[in-house]
Amino acid sequence: MKSFQEIYRKSENKITGIAAAPGIIIGEAYLFTKEKLEISKADINDINKAIEDLHEALEKSKKELNKIFTIAREKMDDVRAAIFEAQLMILDDPILIGTIISRLKEEKKQPEYIVDDEISKYQSRMILSHESYMKERALDIEDIKQRIIRNLQKKRWGSKIDHNVIVVSESLTPADTVLLSRNKVLAFVTDHGGITSHAAIISRSLNIPAVVGTHNATEQIKDGDKIIVDGFYGYTITNPTQAQIDFFTEKHNRLVELQKGLEELRDKPAVTKDGKEINIYANVDVTGEIDVVVASGAKGIGLYRSEQILNETGEFPTEEEQTLIYTKLSSRIYPNSVTIRVFDIGGDKFRFLDYQEPNPFLGLRGIRLLLENPTLFKTQLRAILKASVNRNIKIMLPMISTLDEVHASNKLLEECKHELKEKKVPFDDDIEIGIMVEVPSVAVMTKVFVEHIDFLSIGTNDLIQYLMAVDRGNDLVSDLYREFSPAVIRTLKHIIDDAKKAKKPVSICGEMAADTLAMPLLVGLGLENLSISSATIPYAKRIIRNFDYKKSKKLAEKCLKFTSQKEIEDEIQKFFTDNKIIRTRQII
Ligand code: PEP
Ligand code: MG
Repeated sequence: MKSFQEIYRKSENKITGIAAAPGIIIGEAYLFTKEKLEISKADINDINKAIEDLHEALEKSKKELNKIFTIAREKMDDVRAAIFEAQLMILDDPILIGTIISRLKEEKKQPEYIVDDEISKYQSRMILSHESYMKERALDIEDIKQRIIRNLQKKRWGSKIDHNVIVVSESLTPADTVLLSRNKVLAFVTDHGGITSHAAIISRSLNIPAVVGTHNATEQIKDGDKIIVDGFYGYTITNPTQAQIDFFTEKHNRLVELQKGLEELRDKPAVTKDGKEINIYANVDVTGEIDVVVASGAKGIGLYRSEQILNETGEFPTEEEQTLIYTKLSSRIYPNSVTIRVFDIGGDKFRFLDYQEPNPFLGLRGIRLLLENPTLFKTQLRAILKASVNRNIKIMLPMISTLDEVHASNKLLEECKHELKEKKVPFDDDIEIGIMVEVPSVAVMTKVFVEHIDFLSIGTNDLIQYLMAVDRGNDLVSDLYREFSPAVIRTLKHIIDDAKKAKKPVSICGEMAADTLAMPLLVGLGLENLSISSATIPYAKRIIRNFDYKKSKKLAEKCLKFTSQKEIEDEIQKFFTDNKIIRTRQII
């Protein structure tokens, strides 16, 4: 089997684009070209007839869009289907229609010309916007414009797809994407479009792999060509070699295996029997895992352990390399968000110092090491900022133990923002910054810390280690490492209550959140956001969907009164038995 490097970097038949929807597909290309509509600027005599034609075309367009909206609602969630609702609203916009009619009366030109000119004005304003989101919306408006003009010219939309194909097109509108998805479309490849394009979002919702923004795929690929689409990395391979086919077939098979267990609960929310919704996010530890996260139905990445990059590469990536990594991450997870935890080096993780600290877990770890090495820290912060243009990245600080560390980190972040502004580099100026609560000093002072940060995430792995004074990796004392210790759950309660009083989002991202036994207790303690490994997500959903929030609150109240771990564990076990909840696996 050839290596990853040989397959990707050295292949000449590779077309690079943007990974818009994940998946691996090997199949036949179908070049989808839309007829270019000629616009007539001819004079008209009968204005009333032209106005009548315009209304008829608007009505027909509305009918078509309503149909697409219905299909979209069947296939994806309401938020995403709302794209078409927004398009329908444009068709009813009294100012736009009013302007078109007055111009018809004044200029006495073909309605298609006025429609084209007027809607194009709208679009140019959007294209000039600095926001990539607005630019993408301009493409959606193109769809409306073309639809009205086509209906004024009484032409039909059609595709002749009758067998499994990969659609290759200059660009795709959301409506094209939905309509084509009813046929046998395996994947999409487009010349234009970005990660925030609705066509990309829809592909993700419909689970159809897509690579967009290739610039010239339609020139390089011919109708009927055999191609491979890699929606994870954003590559398309034309007329692949046998080695490439073998490589991608194996990759595809591995993916199918991984996804088997996830399918059933993927699109179902983690909502208790009495209607309380819990947001489930994914923890990401290795780059390859993001593929599974996207397929797992997680609401985003609650913890991206960025130090894993160092473990994978064995060295510090440059600012440019990091920017690329975080940009890809942000794009892959969009429109959901990703919380990037800055390098948590030290402890039992990546070794940075030349000498072995006597007590690495109590030494220069996480934020302490970063503040001692501001150049390194700022390089990472700038890379994260540069990757934040989609506005879906949050920054999280590990191992915070004093307020001064929060202030010092905020100061460095401000410096980085200033540097980027000077160079006119775009970034999300409102990027949120939060902290891990994993050192007891922060837990005790939650009320004070929340005043200076945007969110908190409880890292029980370390919190338990530091609270109970038990090395989390030492077998000799593992008996003392107790997540159901009364001290642990009372500490959790204290953090959650203080965060909620200050209306700051609080989540939990330690392994305790992935212990299905702990789930009713955590929910009952008031946690609404859990970040767990993606493999655990369907199991977590199944448990949460099987109990009442009210009952879990009672369980937590009882457990908070107990003074021993045994009593707490017994009470939780009883909760599972009484409520007939089947626990398939404890920790995955
Ligand atoms: C934790 O401490 O709970 C945590 C999530 O961080 P890590 O396991 O990476 O130390
Ligand atoms: Mg930790």
